[in-house]
Amino acid sequence: MFETAIAGSLPKPSWLSETEKLWPQWRLAGPELQQAKADATLLWIKAQEDAGLDIVGDGEQSRQHFVHGFLEQVDGIDFENKVTMGIRNNRYDALVPQVVAELRLKGRVHAFEAQLARAHTEKKLKFTLPGPLTIVDTVADRFYGDKRKMAFAFAELLNQEALALQADGVDIIQFDEPGFNVYMQDAVDWGVQALEIAARGLTCTTAVHICYGYGIKANTDWKETLGQEWRQYAEVFPALAASSIQQVSLECYHSHVPPDLMALLKNKDVMVGVIDVSSDVIETPEQVADTIGVALQHLPRNRIFPCTNCGLAPMSREVAVKKLQALAQGAALARQRYGDAGAKA
Ligand code: ZN
Repeated sequence: MFETAIAGSLPKPSWLSETEKLWPQWRLAGPELQQAKADATLLWIKAQEDAGLDIVGDGEQSRQHFVHGFLEQVDGIDFENKVTMGIRNNRYDALVPQVVAELRLKGRVHAFEAQLARAHTEKKLKFTLPGPLTIVDTVADRFYGDKRKMAFAFAELLNQEALALQADGVDIIQFDEPGFNVYMQDAVDWGVQALEIAARGLTCTTAVHICYGYGIKANTDWKETLGQEWRQYAEVFPALAASSIQQVSLECYHSHVPPDLMALLKNKDVMVGVIDVSSDVIETPEQVADTIGVALQHLPRNRIFPCTNCGLAPMSREVAVKKLQALAQGAALARQRYGDAGAKA
C-alpha cells in the first residue's frame, strides 16, 4: 500500500552537466561522458533506495532533456540546425531540432542506462519515455505537415523502444505527456490513441504522467493565469479511464487541481503528486500523509501511489534528496494512519 516513486527526472551532479537547468550542457564528452552518466545513474539509484522509495528509476541522468534525449536516436531529425520555437502553446521558447525526413530509430535509445539500472537494483524499476503528443510539441516539423500523423509516427518508434525496455527487465514504462494539459482537445482526439500505440503489446505496467510542468519560472507564471480551479484533467481523464494505460500520474499538493477529479480515473492506479517541485521548501511527513488522506477521499487505498508532482531535474541535489526522504517518510506515516482505516473500497 502507498508504494512510492518519483515522476522521473533528478538533478544532474555538477561534474556531469550544468546544474539547475532544464537543458544543461554536458561537462564531458565521449567515453568520459558515458562513464559519468553511468556513475550519476548509480548514485541516484542508491539515493532513492536509501531514502526508502519502493519504485526507483535512472533519474534521467543520461539524457539532456526528457524529450530530446529520445530524439537524438531518431533518424530523420536534423540536430545540427536547431530553431527557436514557442512550445506548450507558446508558454516559453525552446531551441528544438527539426524533423526533415521519415522517422526511424537508429537503434536502441536507452539500453545502456536501463540495463545498468536493472543490474544494480532489486527494487521495481520504472523507466520514462516522452509521450507522442508532447514530442510533437517539442520538435519543429518540416516534413509531415500534420501533428497527428507525426505523433503516430513517433508512437511507433516509442513502441519499439518500450518493448525493448521491457525485455531489459523494466517493470513500469511511463510516458510523459505534460502536453495533455495544454492541448486537451488534441489529447482526446488522438493523443490517448497515440499513447496506446506506444504501449501496444507491453505486458509490464504502463503509465502516463500528466503535469503542469517543471518548477521553472515560465511554468509558475503560467500557473498564475489558470485561476483558482485547474480543470484541465477533467477533459482528458475520461479518455484515459477508457484506455489500456494502467497508471496515471497527476499533480496534487500545492496545485489548484480539484481533488475530486481523481475519481474520474476509475480502475486506474493513480500516482498522486504529494511533493511540490516548484518550491525548495521540504514537505513534512505530516503534509505528505495529509495529501494522501485527501486522495483517499476519492480513490481506494490500493490504487494510490504517492509520487512527486513532476520531475526534480532543475532543483539542487540537496533539496531533491530531502524531498525523496519526505516522500518515503510521508508514505510510511500514511500507512500507519490509514492502514486499517475506512478508505473507500
Ligand atoms: Zn511533469
